[in-house]
Amino acid sequence: MPPKKRWNNSKLPLFSCLGVLTCSLFTGSIAASHAGQAPQTAVDTQAIPVTVLSAKDAENKPLPFHKIASDTYFFYGNIAEVDEKNRGFNGNAGFVVTRDGVVVIDSLGTPRLGKRLIATVRQVTKLPIKYLIITHNHPDHSYGAIAFKSIPGIKIIGHEGTLKYLDSEGLAGSVAFRRSFIAPDMQGFKGVAPDILIGGKRFDHYAFTLGGKTFRVYNTGQHHSYGDLVVHQVEDKNVWISDLAFNNRSTFMGDGHSSEVLGAMDWLRNSFPDTRLMIPGHGSAQTAPFPMVEKTYSYVKRLRDEMRDAIKSGQDLATAVKASDFADWHDAPLYHENHKKNANFIYLEMEQELF
Ligand SMILES: [Zn+2]
Repeated sequence: MPPKKRWNNSKLPLFSCLGVLTCSLFTGSIAASHAGQAPQTAVDTQAIPVTVLSAKDAENKPLPFHKIASDTYFFYGNIAEVDEKNRGFNGNAGFVVTRDGVVVIDSLGTPRLGKRLIATVRQVTKLPIKYLIITHNHPDHSYGAIAFKSIPGIKIIGHEGTLKYLDSEGLAGSVAFRRSFIAPDMQGFKGVAPDILIGGKRFDHYAFTLGGKTFRVYNTGQHHSYGDLVVHQVEDKNVWISDLAFNNRSTFMGDGHSSEVLGAMDWLRNSFPDTRLMIPGHGSAQTAPFPMVEKTYSYVKRLRDEMRDAIKSGQDLATAVKASDFADWHDAPLYHENHKKNANFIYLEMEQELF
């Protein structure tokens, strides 16, 4: 059941971009022709984008985007499950322009969106795309990666867990699912093995410099997928946290480990004290004190506590999941779609932890 109203955004105006027109977003002025609504800003807003894409859109047609900081650009994906209207544009991505080239963070959810992401970069700068960092293997972040593969000299960075995912039934199932209703957008899909694999100890990082900007790519373990990364723009003080915390919506636990979610959020809070912007995989970017981190942390901890107590009091899985209900989250987008699944997942984790 969809939420009845938008979450805490009643006072915030939506910037309407209906039909074909030029939208002025934040400091950038772009020709972003698309149907739907894009919020006026993608920083500290509860306004939710409603970007409607067409199967007929040319694959070199730029996507709506926001400039969220100096040299830093952001695609504010819809807060929704993948459907025929958003066509896989339901996760965030972005890019950073340096004087020697471009670093892209995440590739969006289909090969076609990957191409449109590249076309958007081309609209901002003619400098080459030198790196694509895939924060994790989930479709909404990684299925556009194949579009980048043919860019001369590009290095694709991903977690070593990606290799396991590329061999998994999860990949096959999600590709078949997308092909069942957005087949044209999935044309040419292939899983992409990264050129540079990030692994080793949790919270170790790989660093590179491009055009005077340093990027540190942290291995944050397997809190949300087969392997998760966080990207720090060191001089610019922006942290791309991917799906470590969710903004403007409820979290999703269907992969990964909820105990690692809490551990990685503790690490996040302690590791980047002078952060200007945190940029999540879903929802708007945020300035300090980064309430999305507290909010996601408290949701996950509360559900762990509830499921642990349920097991201790002898409740079986079905009863505990049925009873779980966070009334204060009812208005959060995707709560109704995700909460019971999260409860189910975490109940099984708590069983493992207790016995
Ligand atoms: Zn995601």
